[in-house]
Amino acid sequence: MQDIWVVAETNCGVLAGGTLELWGKARSLAQSCDGTVTAVLLGADVAPLAAQLAAYGADTVLLAQDPELAQYRTLPYTAVLTELIGARKPAIVLLGATSQGRDLAPRVAGRLRTGLTADCLELILDRDGLLVQTKPSYGDNVMVDIVIPEHRPQMATVRPHVFPLPEKQEGRSAKVEEVSVELEASDLTTRVREIIVEEQQASKLEEADVIVAGGRGMGSRENFALLEKLAHALGGVVGATRPPVDEGWIDAAYQIGQSGKTVAPKLFIACGISGAVQHTVGIEKSKVIVAINKDASAPIFNFATYGIVGDVRDVIPALLQELGASE
Ligand SMILES: Cc1cc2nc3c(=O)[nH]c(=O)nc-3n(C[C@H](O)[C@H](O)[C@H](O)COP(=O)(O)OP(=O)(O)OC[C@H]3O[C@@H](n4cnc5c(N)ncnc54)[C@H](O)[C@@H]3O)c2cc1C
Repeated sequence: MQDIWVVAETNCGVLAGGTLELWGKARSLAQSCDGTVTAVLLGADVAPLAAQLAAYGADTVLLAQDPELAQYRTLPYTAVLTELIGARKPAIVLLGATSQGRDLAPRVAGRLRTGLTADCLELILDRDGLLVQTKPSYGDNVMVDIVIPEHRPQMATVRPHVFPLPEKQEGRSAKVEEVSVELEASDLTTRVREIIVEEQQASKLEEADVIVAGGRGMGSRENFALLEKLAHALGGVVGATRPPVDEGWIDAAYQIGQSGKTVAPKLFIACGISGAVQHTVGIEKSKVIVAINKDASAPIFNFATYGIVGDVRDVIPALLQELGASE
């Protein structure tokens, strides 16, 4: 029997959307090995969320509450989670591959000297009960299966939205266990002084008439700013393929495609995008697609209404000039 832990992620006192699918996956893994699902909930005044975790499939909720855990900070969260895992020795620990999960999981795995697979797309248990963790590699061109045979727990972060959202079973109950939180001064060397809520244009992507999307070919976060200028000049919003999200040039909320948003604008401008099917499934309802790519044989040109073969760093400034928008 395996105890499968899922680290619950919260955002301003609510469970974070992109991680809820983990509960359905943890539940089905637990069913296949007659195991249990434990939720680890860190925060301040987060006890009311335990009922929701039970409804999503947790059998037990470990509640670690402390005012110092009110907002996510790397060091105190790492200390509490490492301590809990070390003391209770679960077989498997899952986190969302969100910015929080990607920060927390490797530190905890490092302290526990165990293995971690980042960014998984599938998880199954093999005949020996080992967690087979599937993730894309080599620029998403191959899928690799990773197992952690010797060290425990087996840790994985899972990319948001790859598993279906489990149905909530209202009224389902879980054992809630409050655990003590002991933090050292060295865990509290950083302070959150202010939270500035970013104005998210991403929520407008699905309704936008004009989308200017960038891919890996944009080359840098700075070049991405060019897209914003073009989008602004055309009264549209910016979107992206997955590599810019992985590079940290833009927030995941702007990703378009199989594991991102599906859009249907009147005009879609694809800048430095190759045209991989995982992206084009999200844009096929666009009325007019204009592709800018320096490689004349890029697959996006088979998909686009109009194509411009050229370097985005030349073509976008030229378009901005034509539109009378300063660069
Ligand atoms: C399960 C799964 C789900 C996925 N989900 C998504 C998803 O939701 N969305 C998504 O986008 N991807 C997704 N992917 C990834 C997808 O397979 C591709 O890897 C990705 O779409 C490629 O992004 P890209 O076109 O930006 O990068 P690349 O394929 O690397 O293409 C970059 C392009 O830019 C061009 N270029 C380079 N420099 C310049 C320049 N200076 N000027 C002009 N052109 C230039 C190149 O010629 C090239 O064609 C998924 C993959 C998997 C396995």
